[in-house]
Amino acid sequence: MKLILLGAPGAGKGTVAKLLTKMDGSVQISTGDILRGAVAAGTELGKQAEAAMKAGDLVSDDLIMGIMEERLQQDDCKAGYLLDGFPRTIPQAEALKVLLDKMGEKLDCAVEIDVPRDVILDRLTTRRTCTQCGEIYNVKSNPPKVEGVCDKCGGPVVQRDDETEEAISNRLNVYNEQTAPLVGFYKNEGLLLSVKATSSDAVIDAIKEKLGQ
Ligand code: AMP
Repeated sequence: MKLILLGAPGAGKGTVAKLLTKMDGSVQISTGDILRGAVAAGTELGKQAEAAMKAGDLVSDDLIMGIMEERLQQDDCKAGYLLDGFPRTIPQAEALKVLLDKMGEKLDCAVEIDVPRDVILDRLTTRRTCTQCGEIYNVKSNPPKVEGVCDKCGGPVVQRDDETEEAISNRLNVYNEQTAPLVGFYKNEGLLLSVKATSSDAVIDAIKEKLGQ
């Protein structure tokens, strides 16, 4: 399947994407994970993205489109892809449309995961992430077995730099101003599936129904 996952930070895009990869071998492509990997590795891309990420601002459309043009042409995308955190602006959505047309590909749908703001705020302030493998934990509902240590890979589990109260509030404002308009964009394209749900299983069920699976 070829899906876009839309939704505010903390809406559960990553969790839903991970569950969907198990269904049909589609790959999860998270621009946030790619950028965090580049920052950790100290690459040129990481250096260009780091300051904006830390503040909760978006990195430039050109930088993101450069990453995605390359990524979508890799072999593992042939089985399908779940775009998690991309596109995030109207210019990115327009550029993606041109790119997919050029590649002769069509999206199945763009899924908006619509979660109330208080749930989002609670999730983001209690979320912890493994800096080594990206596994997500929650200090209240899903802590690692040993505090600060990833169950999967033994890496350090920490609060992300952009999950301070100030950066979270900025990320939510940025979402409302720059990313929320994509809901209208994909509605016009006839591709929108909007799901009001706080459980990832409910989102997966709605996607399966929409795709007739
Ligand atoms: P995420 O893990 O998806 O919340 O992304 C973390 C941060 O990476 C965002 O707050 C942005 O600074 C940056 N980022 C990720 N994806 C994009 C994108 N498509 N466009 C611009 N910036 C992005």
